[in-house]
Amino acid sequence: MARINPKFSAELKSFGAFDANACYNCGNCTAVCSLSDENNSFPRKMVRYSVLGLDNEIQMSLEPWLCYYCGECSTTCPREAQPGELMMSLRRWLTSKYDWTGLSGLLYKSLSATIVAFILLAAGVIWFAASQNFNTEKMLHFGHYFEMIAIAAVFVVILIPDIINMWWKTVYKTKVKVPVSAYFKALGELIIHMFTQKRTLGCDDSKTRWLEHLILVAGYLTLLFTTVFLDWFATQSTFIIILGYVESAVIFVITFIFMGERIMKKQEVSIHAHPSDWFFVIWLFLMGLTAFTVRLFIDLDILETNIWMYLIHLIILVQWALIIVPFGKWTHFLFRSFAMYFQRIKELDG
Ligand code: SF4
Ligand code: SF4
Repeated sequence: MARINPKFSAELKSFGAFDANACYNCGNCTAVCSLSDENNSFPRKMVRYSVLGLDNEIQMSLEPWLCYYCGECSTTCPREAQPGELMMSLRRWLTSKYDWTGLSGLLYKSLSATIVAFILLAAGVIWFAASQNFNTEKMLHFGHYFEMIAIAAVFVVILIPDIINMWWKTVYKTKVKVPVSAYFKALGELIIHMFTQKRTLGCDDSKTRWLEHLILVAGYLTLLFTTVFLDWFATQSTFIIILGYVESAVIFVITFIFMGERIMKKQEVSIHAHPSDWFFVIWLFLMGLTAFTVRLFIDLDILETNIWMYLIHLIILVQWALIIVPFGKWTHFLFRSFAMYFQRIKELDG
């Protein structure tokens, strides 16, 4: 028998949801959703589950990740129950359930805890820089190795266990018999969705949004490669220097557009922005902008006398790598891709 959690609606509100109890189950939202199908009748089913407090069923479902927040359901809901925002809140809530540390939930629910975490990390970086007498060479060296170690540590300690937890809840516990070969056959799905997020194209009028995201993901991943493996801040290669400038410029230009869209509230997705949405886009913007400026200062030979610029970049980088990537909105990109993978695996069941 299904277990009912009477406090679930209230809990979901702390992740950003509106009053799902306003829903009178008309089904308009599912009818207009271009991504739902006969096997996945979201968002109505998820709205119902939320109202009824069926949190176990929601944890076992991949449906919240199959929604790409075009917002059509919210604009057509006659009860203004905001089903699109509910799906977004479910994704935040699920992230907190996959995360074994519990920090995702804390940071999503508490703005003050997030701000304290940002301040503590900034203080830690400043303390470290002071302990190195703000020596440019030592700070650059630390920043370079921090990126490598942080990426590896965050994946091994936080993200891989979270993905295993997601698999446990959404594949294993659903008792769908999946042959081992399905995990290999579906790998292409994972890679395609991770790098292209092509499901976005299923939403109406989404080509521009999809293209912006594609360019941003390409800029982000290639800049990561350029800074970590091609050592952008230390290289003498003109090609790599220009490559890094282009990649970082792509990031801050696209994120600047995103911030403008959020401020103008032109799209449904921008109307109910949660603090975590703002942190994601602002920190990505600052990462691109400060990386660009640091390299410019190096090329103008003024970084040593303006080491504060690198200190700002390092603070942004550390906050991004230790808060937003493992516990914030960045994880949605990962979980969404794995949801498509797990969904494909389940379709290939024996
Ligand atoms: S359109 Fe609104 S009222 Fe109708 S089922 Fe969806 S959420 Fe409920
Ligand atoms: S936001 Fe768009 S994709 Fe998500 S459930 Fe609503 S209509 Fe479907």
